[in-house]
Amino acid sequence: MSYSVNLLQQIVSKIDGKIALSFSYQAEDTAALHLLLQCGIKSLEVFTLDTGKLFHECEKLHKETEEFFGISIKRYLPKIDDVKNLENTLGAWGMRESLKNRHLCCHVRKVEPLSRALKGKSAWVTGLRASQSITRNALRIVEYDEKFNLFKINPLDSWSEADVFNYIKEYNLPLNSLYSKGFKSIGCEPCTRAVGENEDVRAGRWWWENPEHKECGLHIKEK
Ligand code: SF4
Repeated sequence: MSYSVNLLQQIVSKIDGKIALSFSYQAEDTAALHLLLQCGIKSLEVFTLDTGKLFHECEKLHKETEEFFGISIKRYLPKIDDVKNLENTLGAWGMRESLKNRHLCCHVRKVEPLSRALKGKSAWVTGLRASQSITRNALRIVEYDEKFNLFKINPLDSWSEADVFNYIKEYNLPLNSLYSKGFKSIGCEPCTRAVGENEDVRAGRWWWENPEHKECGLHIKEK
Protein backbone atom coordinates (compact mmCIF):
# COMPACT_ATOMS: atom_id res chain seq x y z
CA MET A 1 0.00 0.00 0.00
CA SER A 2 1.25 3.46 -0.79
CA TYR A 3 -0.26 6.77 0.16
CA SER A 4 1.19 8.21 -3.06
CA VAL A 5 -1.32 9.73 -5.44
CA ASN A 6 1.02 9.23 -8.43
CA LEU A 7 -0.44 5.91 -9.55
CA LEU A 8 -3.99 7.17 -9.20
CA GLN A 9 -3.06 10.31 -11.10
CA GLN A 10 -1.63 8.22 -13.94
CA ILE A 11 -4.80 6.13 -14.08
CA VAL A 12 -7.28 9.00 -14.06
CA SER A 13 -5.23 10.97 -16.60
CA LYS A 14 -6.03 8.25 -19.14
CA ILE A 15 -9.78 8.55 -18.58
CA ASP A 16 -11.55 10.56 -21.22
CA GLY A 17 -14.77 11.99 -19.80
CA LYS A 18 -16.44 12.53 -16.47
CA ILE A 19 -15.32 10.67 -13.35
CA ALA A 20 -17.64 9.89 -10.44
CA LEU A 21 -16.81 8.95 -6.86
CA SER A 22 -19.44 7.13 -4.80
CA PHE A 23 -19.52 8.34 -1.21
CA SER A 24 -21.24 6.02 1.24
CA TYR A 25 -20.11 7.53 4.54
CA GLN A 26 -17.33 5.02 5.16
CA ALA A 27 -13.78 5.95 6.10
CA GLU A 28 -12.60 4.31 2.86
CA ASP A 29 -14.67 6.73 0.76
CA THR A 30 -13.19 9.72 2.57
CA ALA A 31 -9.63 8.43 2.01
CA ALA A 32 -10.37 7.76 -1.68
CA LEU A 33 -11.90 11.23 -2.03
CA HIS A 34 -8.88 12.86 -0.41
CA LEU A 35 -6.55 11.01 -2.82
CA LEU A 36 -8.68 11.82 -5.83
CA LEU A 37 -8.94 15.53 -5.09
CA GLN A 38 -5.12 15.69 -5.30
CA CYS A 39 -5.18 14.39 -8.88
CA GLY A 40 -6.39 17.62 -10.48
CA ILE A 41 -9.44 16.10 -12.17
CA LYS A 42 -11.40 18.65 -14.18
CA SER A 43 -14.68 16.77 -14.42
CA LEU A 44 -15.55 15.04 -11.14
CA GLU A 45 -18.90 14.28 -9.51
CA VAL A 46 -19.03 13.09 -5.90
CA PHE A 47 -22.36 11.43 -5.23
CA THR A 48 -24.20 9.42 -2.61
CA LEU A 49 -27.10 7.01 -2.83
CA ASP A 50 -29.62 8.46 -0.41
CA THR A 51 -31.63 5.29 0.25
CA GLY A 52 -33.98 6.91 2.76
CA LYS A 53 -32.71 4.38 5.33
CA LEU A 54 -29.45 6.00 6.38
CA PHE A 55 -28.31 6.66 9.95
CA HIS A 56 -28.56 10.29 11.09
CA GLU A 57 -24.79 10.11 11.74
CA CYS A 58 -24.33 9.83 7.96
CA GLU A 59 -26.26 13.04 7.41
CA LYS A 60 -23.93 14.79 9.84
CA LEU A 61 -20.88 13.42 8.01
CA HIS A 62 -22.39 14.53 4.69
CA LYS A 63 -22.31 18.17 5.83
CA GLU A 64 -18.90 17.87 7.50
CA THR A 65 -17.39 16.33 4.36
CA GLU A 66 -18.82 19.02 2.09
CA GLU A 67 -17.42 21.72 4.35
CA PHE A 68 -14.03 20.07 4.85
CA PHE A 69 -13.34 19.53 1.15
CA GLY A 70 -15.33 22.50 -0.17
CA ILE A 71 -17.40 20.24 -2.43
CA SER A 72 -21.03 19.36 -2.98
CA ILE A 73 -22.09 15.72 -2.68
CA LYS A 74 -24.93 15.02 -5.08
CA ARG A 75 -27.76 12.85 -3.80
CA TYR A 76 -29.42 10.20 -5.94
CA LEU A 77 -32.74 9.09 -4.45
CA PRO A 78 -34.86 6.05 -5.28
CA LYS A 79 -37.95 6.62 -7.42
CA ILE A 80 -40.96 7.56 -5.26
CA ASP A 81 -43.37 5.11 -6.91
CA ASP A 82 -40.88 2.25 -6.61
CA VAL A 83 -40.45 2.98 -2.89
CA LYS A 84 -44.23 3.06 -2.37
CA ASN A 85 -44.61 -0.31 -4.11
CA LEU A 86 -41.69 -1.70 -2.14
CA GLU A 87 -43.13 -0.59 1.19
CA ASN A 88 -46.57 -1.92 0.28
CA THR A 89 -45.01 -5.28 -0.56
CA LEU A 90 -42.37 -5.64 2.15
CA GLY A 91 -43.44 -3.34 4.96
CA ALA A 92 -40.74 -1.66 7.02
CA TRP A 93 -38.67 -4.76 7.84
CA GLY A 94 -39.44 -7.23 5.05
CA MET A 95 -35.93 -6.94 3.65
CA ARG A 96 -34.81 -9.19 6.51
CA GLU A 97 -37.26 -11.98 5.67
CA SER A 98 -35.51 -13.41 2.61
CA LEU A 99 -32.56 -12.81 0.29
CA LYS A 100 -35.05 -12.12 -2.48
CA ASN A 101 -36.73 -9.36 -0.46
CA ARG A 102 -33.40 -7.88 0.52
CA HIS A 103 -32.20 -7.81 -3.08
CA LEU A 104 -35.46 -6.18 -4.13
CA CYS A 105 -35.01 -3.41 -1.55
CA CYS A 106 -31.33 -2.93 -2.54
CA HIS A 107 -32.33 -2.79 -6.18
CA VAL A 108 -34.93 -0.06 -5.65
CA ARG A 109 -32.95 1.99 -3.15
CA LYS A 110 -29.40 1.49 -4.43
CA VAL A 111 -28.89 -0.24 -7.76
CA GLU A 112 -31.42 1.70 -9.83
CA PRO A 113 -30.28 5.09 -8.43
CA LEU A 114 -26.66 4.04 -9.03
CA SER A 115 -27.41 3.34 -12.68
CA ARG A 116 -28.64 6.95 -12.97
CA ALA A 117 -25.61 8.26 -11.07
CA LEU A 118 -23.20 6.47 -13.41
CA LYS A 119 -25.00 7.33 -16.62
CA GLY A 120 -22.72 9.33 -18.90
CA LYS A 121 -19.69 8.80 -16.68
CA SER A 122 -16.46 7.24 -17.98
CA ALA A 123 -15.12 5.99 -14.66
CA TRP A 124 -16.35 5.20 -11.18
CA VAL A 125 -14.01 5.57 -8.20
CA THR A 126 -14.81 3.50 -5.11
CA GLY A 127 -13.38 2.94 -1.64
CA LEU A 128 -13.50 -0.86 -1.96
CA ARG A 129 -10.71 -2.95 -0.44
CA ALA A 130 -9.90 -6.55 -1.37
CA SER A 131 -9.52 -7.60 2.25
CA GLN A 132 -13.00 -6.43 3.23
CA SER A 133 -14.74 -9.71 2.41
CA ILE A 134 -14.63 -12.91 0.39
CA THR A 135 -16.85 -11.24 -2.20
CA ARG A 136 -14.10 -8.69 -2.88
CA ASN A 137 -10.87 -10.67 -2.74
CA ALA A 138 -10.32 -10.59 -6.53
CA LEU A 139 -10.52 -6.78 -6.58
CA ARG A 140 -8.05 -4.89 -8.83
CA ILE A 141 -7.09 -1.21 -8.81
CA VAL A 142 -8.64 -0.81 -12.28
CA GLU A 143 -11.38 -3.02 -13.65
CA TYR A 144 -13.92 -2.74 -16.40
CA ASP A 145 -17.45 -2.85 -15.05
CA GLU A 146 -19.58 -4.52 -17.70
CA LYS A 147 -22.78 -4.02 -15.76
CA PHE A 148 -22.48 -0.24 -15.82
CA ASN A 149 -20.22 -0.09 -18.86
CA LEU A 150 -17.38 2.04 -17.48
CA PHE A 151 -13.99 1.78 -15.78
CA LYS A 152 -14.07 1.13 -12.07
CA ILE A 153 -11.10 2.48 -10.12
CA ASN A 154 -10.41 1.14 -6.63
CA PRO A 155 -7.41 3.10 -5.28
CA LEU A 156 -7.60 1.37 -1.89
CA ASP A 157 -7.67 -2.15 -3.35
CA SER A 158 -4.61 -3.34 -1.40
CA TRP A 159 -5.13 -1.27 1.76
CA SER A 160 -5.78 -2.84 5.13
CA GLU A 161 -8.34 -1.53 7.61
CA ALA A 162 -5.44 -0.08 9.65
CA ASP A 163 -4.08 1.70 6.56
CA VAL A 164 -7.41 3.47 6.14
CA PHE A 165 -7.64 4.70 9.71
CA ASN A 166 -3.96 5.71 9.78
CA TYR A 167 -4.59 7.76 6.65
CA ILE A 168 -7.70 9.41 8.16
CA LYS A 169 -5.69 10.27 11.27
CA GLU A 170 -2.65 11.51 9.36
CA TYR A 171 -4.72 14.03 7.39
CA ASN A 172 -7.27 14.70 10.13
CA LEU A 173 -10.15 13.83 7.79
CA PRO A 174 -13.81 13.79 8.90
CA LEU A 175 -14.94 10.41 10.22
CA ASN A 176 -18.38 8.90 10.74
CA SER A 177 -19.15 8.87 14.49
CA LEU A 178 -20.68 5.39 14.07
CA TYR A 179 -17.13 3.99 14.18
CA SER A 180 -16.83 5.08 17.80
CA LYS A 181 -20.08 3.19 18.54
CA GLY A 182 -18.74 -0.19 17.43
CA PHE A 183 -19.59 -0.08 13.72
CA LYS A 184 -16.87 -1.31 11.36
CA SER A 185 -18.78 -0.96 8.10
CA ILE A 186 -21.51 1.57 7.37
CA GLY A 187 -24.73 0.81 5.51
CA CYS A 188 -28.48 1.37 5.86
CA GLU A 189 -29.85 1.45 9.41
CA PRO A 190 -32.11 -1.66 9.19
CA CYS A 191 -29.27 -3.75 7.73
CA THR A 192 -26.23 -2.67 9.74
CA ARG A 193 -25.27 -3.29 13.36
CA ALA A 194 -22.30 -2.65 15.60
CA VAL A 195 -19.85 -5.55 15.92
CA GLY A 196 -17.53 -6.97 18.56
CA GLU A 197 -13.82 -6.21 18.53
CA ASN A 198 -12.90 -9.62 17.12
CA GLU A 199 -15.70 -9.77 14.56
CA ASP A 200 -15.04 -9.45 10.87
CA VAL A 201 -15.24 -5.94 9.35
CA ARG A 202 -18.38 -6.84 7.35
CA ALA A 203 -19.99 -8.95 10.10
CA GLY A 204 -22.47 -6.18 10.92
CA ARG A 205 -23.82 -5.92 7.37
CA TRP A 206 -26.87 -8.17 6.66
CA TRP A 207 -25.70 -10.24 9.62
CA TRP A 208 -28.51 -12.77 9.12
CA GLU A 209 -27.10 -13.79 5.71
CA ASN A 210 -24.19 -16.02 4.65
CA PRO A 211 -20.92 -14.14 3.89
CA GLU A 212 -21.04 -14.96 0.16
CA HIS A 213 -24.32 -13.03 -0.17
CA LYS A 214 -23.16 -9.83 1.52
CA GLU A 215 -23.29 -7.43 -1.41
CA CYS A 216 -26.07 -5.03 -2.31
CA GLY A 217 -25.77 -5.48 -6.08
CA LEU A 218 -23.64 -2.39 -6.67
CA HIS A 219 -20.41 -4.35 -6.91
CA ILE A 220 -21.52 -7.68 -8.33
CA LYS A 221 -19.81 -8.56 -11.61
CA GLU A 222 -21.75 -9.63 -14.67
CA LYS A 223 -21.22 -13.31 -15.50
S1 SF4 B 1 -29.13 -2.19 2.69
FE1 SF4 B 1 -31.13 -2.82 3.59
S2 SF4 B 1 -32.40 -0.95 3.74
FE2 SF4 B 1 -30.61 -0.50 2.40
S3 SF4 B 1 -31.36 -0.80 0.37
FE3 SF4 B 1 -30.43 -2.77 0.99
S4 SF4 B 1 -32.05 -3.96 1.95
FE4 SF4 B 1 -32.80 -1.87 1.75
